[in-house]
Amino acid sequence: MTEFTKIVLTERDMPTHWYNINADLPAAGVEMFPPLHPGTGEPIGPADLAPLFPMALIAQEVSAERYIEIPDQVQEIYKLWRPSPLYRARRWEAALDTPAKIYYKYEGVSPAGSHKPNTAVPQAYYNMKEGVTRLTTETGAGQWGSALSFAAQMFGIECKVYMVKVSYDLKPYRRILMETWGASVIPSPSNQTNSGRTILAQDPDSSGSLGIAISEAVEEAATRDDTKYALGSVLNHVMLHQTVIGQEVMKQLEVAGADWPDVMVGCIGGGSNFAGFTFPFIRENMVNGKQTRFVAVEPSAAPSTTKGVYAYDYGDTGKMAPIVKMYTLGHDFVPAPIHAGGLRYHGMSPQVSALKEAGLIDAVSTTQRAIFDAGVNFTQAEGILPAPETNHAIWGAMQEALACKESGESKTIVFNLSGHGHFDLASYDAYLKGELVDYEYPKEQIEESLAHLPQVG
Ligand SMILES: *Cc1c(COP(=O)(O)O)cnc(C)c1O
Repeated sequence: MTEFTKIVLTERDMPTHWYNINADLPAAGVEMFPPLHPGTGEPIGPADLAPLFPMALIAQEVSAERYIEIPDQVQEIYKLWRPSPLYRARRWEAALDTPAKIYYKYEGVSPAGSHKPNTAVPQAYYNMKEGVTRLTTETGAGQWGSALSFAAQMFGIECKVYMVKVSYDLKPYRRILMETWGASVIPSPSNQTNSGRTILAQDPDSSGSLGIAISEAVEEAATRDDTKYALGSVLNHVMLHQTVIGQEVMKQLEVAGADWPDVMVGCIGGGSNFAGFTFPFIRENMVNGKQTRFVAVEPSAAPSTTKGVYAYDYGDTGKMAPIVKMYTLGHDFVPAPIHAGGLRYHGMSPQVSALKEAGLIDAVSTTQRAIFDAGVNFTQAEGILPAPETNHAIWGAMQEALACKESGESKTIVFNLSGHGHFDLASYDAYLKGELVDYEYPKEQIEESLAHLPQVG
């Protein structure tokens, strides 16, 4: 019998609940800190968040329930691409000449091409249930915007996406995808909000930033009764929704007859794909004495978890989002224009941050050319062309596999292939032409922005 290449579960094997790691953190000695109001610095209550999010999501944000049921209508839509496949990377193992066994979970099979619809769909669903008819959000290169546009269309909700102007001008394809799913896409800064008009008055040619786009989307949601806001990473309810990934992986490894993972690797921007992939396994470490090592990989150009501080900071540049305790580079830190746009965030999920602080996960950083070397090495063996963000996870898995080659160990390495790179071909073009630039650790810029942390907590 030939050995399997991928494990595909049936729809009947899909998880029926999300796993909430908050239920297990206190007993494991991992401390979480309350979010604070950006204006007053006092702990935030549900009423403060109600203009922006539906009550169901606010409840999930603070829930201590271990398992939260996935609504039927959400499961029905998940079935458009879930369960996603788990592959054994036999060809890449051979190419690397490693005794390690490498597995990867492929989240690029979703309509938007990444893990992001796993949370966009329930977010749109809970908004629809509470009578919300419009959603706003921001997007950089368009990955989150396209996931939310798709999800909003599934529930008949209007979706308005503030897209960072430089991406709007230079990266039209995801904009077209969003518009095809019925969303309206506005280049940010725009003249449709006070935040946008203020920026344009100072600089009519502003190319925009994620921070400005967030401020525009939040302002519109806060000032209209029919409209709420949706965020694609960082928050607890987003980590929660992504845990379908790790739960499926656990079942798939069992079906494959694989050993329990020695190492699991993911990339981190706001932390959601890494969280969704690892949290069910981190529970096994915390509760059942398993000893998997978890490695989060981030870019040297935005190294919040490896070079930032664990402190209270604003979630956004405009100081309108809650102040949360997290690894941060400072809310006014602007990362270099690396191609992995989804990893250019100054902070990190508070849950992922707390796990790092407690020593339950490791974090490493690396540069742009290194991750493209790894990504191209992978695609030439396995075929799937990964997103630049995902190439960080591939680089991390490759280091582990090469270490096994050195030591002769046959470890089981599992990584999350968070999305495909079909809309990121310009970055591969730059790589192939030898034009890709490396950005080193921006030490002075980080020291400067860390001087501006809010004096709270
Ligand atoms: C958005 C994105 C990321 C980074 O976001 P996280 O919340 O850290 O997961 C990683 N990979 C892909 C493909 C993305 O689209």
